[in-house]
Amino acid sequence: MIRVERIKRDLEALAQFTATPGKGITRMAFTPEERRARDYLAGEMKAAGLEVYTDAAGNLFGRRPGKNPKAAVVMVGSHIDSVQNGGRFDGAAGVVAAVEIARALQELGKETVHPIEVVVMTEEEGSRFGAGLYGSRAMTGEGISPEELTNTFDDEGISNGEAMKAFGLDPDKIRQAVRPAGTVKAFLELHIEQGPILEAAGFKIGIVESIIGLRTIQVVIYGSADHAGTTPMDMRRDALVGASKIVSQVPSLIQKLGENTVATVGILQVKPGCANIVPAEVKFTIDLRASDNEIIEKAAAKLKKMVAEICSPLNLEYSWEELLAVQPVATGVEIANIVEGVAVQKGIDTMRMQSGAGHDAMVMAKLCPIGLLFVPSKNGKSHCPEEWSDYEDIALGADLYLETILTLANGQGPQGD
Ligand SMILES: [Zn+2]
Repeated sequence: MIRVERIKRDLEALAQFTATPGKGITRMAFTPEERRARDYLAGEMKAAGLEVYTDAAGNLFGRRPGKNPKAAVVMVGSHIDSVQNGGRFDGAAGVVAAVEIARALQELGKETVHPIEVVVMTEEEGSRFGAGLYGSRAMTGEGISPEELTNTFDDEGISNGEAMKAFGLDPDKIRQAVRPAGTVKAFLELHIEQGPILEAAGFKIGIVESIIGLRTIQVVIYGSADHAGTTPMDMRRDALVGASKIVSQVPSLIQKLGENTVATVGILQVKPGCANIVPAEVKFTIDLRASDNEIIEKAAAKLKKMVAEICSPLNLEYSWEELLAVQPVATGVEIANIVEGVAVQKGIDTMRMQSGAGHDAMVMAKLCPIGLLFVPSKNGKSHCPEEWSDYEDIALGADLYLETILTLANGQGPQGD
């Protein structure tokens, strides 16, 4: 049985492993505090009867053999790293829930056909080396190469590869972390919501149906740098006046699209940036997100048209560059239905929702069907020391996953045998 006091104990223990005691959790990949957290979790996994091992990327696993050792693995877990001065639940909640599921399985003494693995992923946030979702990307083999490991550095100039070596890993062997197609049956992740929706709606559990897609666009508006005193108002080409009009119209344009589409201008750089010179150049970004790629395309086209329509009468030029495009990901319908069925049996109300943030599950979807459960975040806060989720809610999520994993590991659900 899932026991909330063990979940609380583990989360309190993990919260001790931080580089910034008293100022939230700072636990970055391949650091001494991450090592201590791993050692703690490895100890707990061994006590739960799991075979503990680390893959070539540094992901930590606890394996529970199945009756059929060749059957695809049912994997459950989340990440162990944090942002600078982050909270104690982001990632850790899902890791601790997975370890508690392993304990409950040991106590139940139930054998399964498929092996089950608890996974503790690293560098999901990308806080140390900039490129996030590292542990899961290493498993899918997407976008991780020995070259990336030598070309990404932390603030102190240490490369990802050097940090791995200091941790006892060989960056040249990173490809050994790849899980071949068909060897993972499902990946389940429990995560804190990091937003206000579940709390506001009064639900303890959210079943994620889709993970939002993202497009980052960089726009540069070009005008002319003229003297602020001698250039008449009707003869100016003021890039900031144009940029301001654009930025102020982004919210209404996006709201008209509906479907939970969101867009944010988070960076604005003005050149030359002098009080007495008409701005010649303004660079800004638009972070655009929606659950449907067609809506992202439509929103991007409308935004671009709006930029052109505002620039033209002001005699401004512009450039438009897409810096990043991440496709929306649908979670496994069958897995979501199994989780929901378990919840109905137990009398737990759940809410179907989308995730506005990316998670390891999003990457793992390239490998196998995924499930993603959210528990409420107090006041929607995350990535800060005030981040809080109730232990009871995490236990509730773990309980739903325990039944779900037993179902999946006994051959039902997607790719059932
Ligand atoms: Zn996270």
